[in-house]
Amino acid sequence: MQGRSGPDVFERVVRDGVAIHTVPGLFESHGIGIAFTERTGGASKAPYDSLNLAQHVGDDPRNVDASRERLLASIGIGVLRDRLTMAEQVHGSSIVEVTGSLTGAGARATGVRPPLPGVDGLWTREQGVPLMLLFADCVPVVLVRPSVPAVAVVHAGWKGVAAGIVGRSAGVLAELAGEDDLSAFVGPHIGTCCYEVGQECLSHFDSAFVTITAVSPHLDLGAAVASDLERSGVPRGRQWHLGICTAHNTDRFYSYRANGLTGRHGALAVIL
Ligand SMILES: [Zn+2]
Repeated sequence: MQGRSGPDVFERVVRDGVAIHTVPGLFESHGIGIAFTERTGGASKAPYDSLNLAQHVGDDPRNVDASRERLLASIGIGVLRDRLTMAEQVHGSSIVEVTGSLTGAGARATGVRPPLPGVDGLWTREQGVPLMLLFADCVPVVLVRPSVPAVAVVHAGWKGVAAGIVGRSAGVLAELAGEDDLSAFVGPHIGTCCYEVGQECLSHFDSAFVTITAVSPHLDLGAAVASDLERSGVPRGRQWHLGICTAHNTDRFYSYRANGLTGRHGALAVIL
């Protein structure tokens, strides 16, 4: 994987109608699977159609579970269904190591175990524990330390970025013993093109990330994430940004800005 850069490191794979953006080189070299999902190939009806992975948006939980099963089966990890681990996602800056009894939290929308409360980042050193967080415009960041091995999945909306979750998460993985090989993979999120923001948000960000238009300021949240990563142990050469705007592509992704009541796509990482 070394030496490859830009969106080319990602590959879009469609299996049984389920489309994901993955990084084949990570799996081939290190047995690490990552996936950023699209919204097709699932069980849910409008306005959640169809691969909605979220239980908190008003969708039928049975359809959510059916979609999660289709996703895991399509990427060959159906046997890990009950080890899938999820987080509440509160736009904060807490990241938790998933191990032992935390494994499987929130795995089933129809189940009794809730996702890990008050958490926006999950990481693990354990094999066979898929971590998944949910998105509809916010920035999904997958961090990988192949030499440990360790993986993290981080939910970075503007509040989380302002609270420092990206740098904090990169710091947690960077401190583990091993080679200097921390990499970041950034999935689909709302682009500067579509991300109008208000003054409360703007006050938290360097003006370098803001474009002033005739109508309103736009924030480049992806650039802010890239900058945080760079300052926290992930040089630009080990960052890969998918570069797809969710609000511009509502046929393939969920966008809260564009659609309001809608589903959530996922970012998943697992050590196999
Ligand atoms: Zn856009």
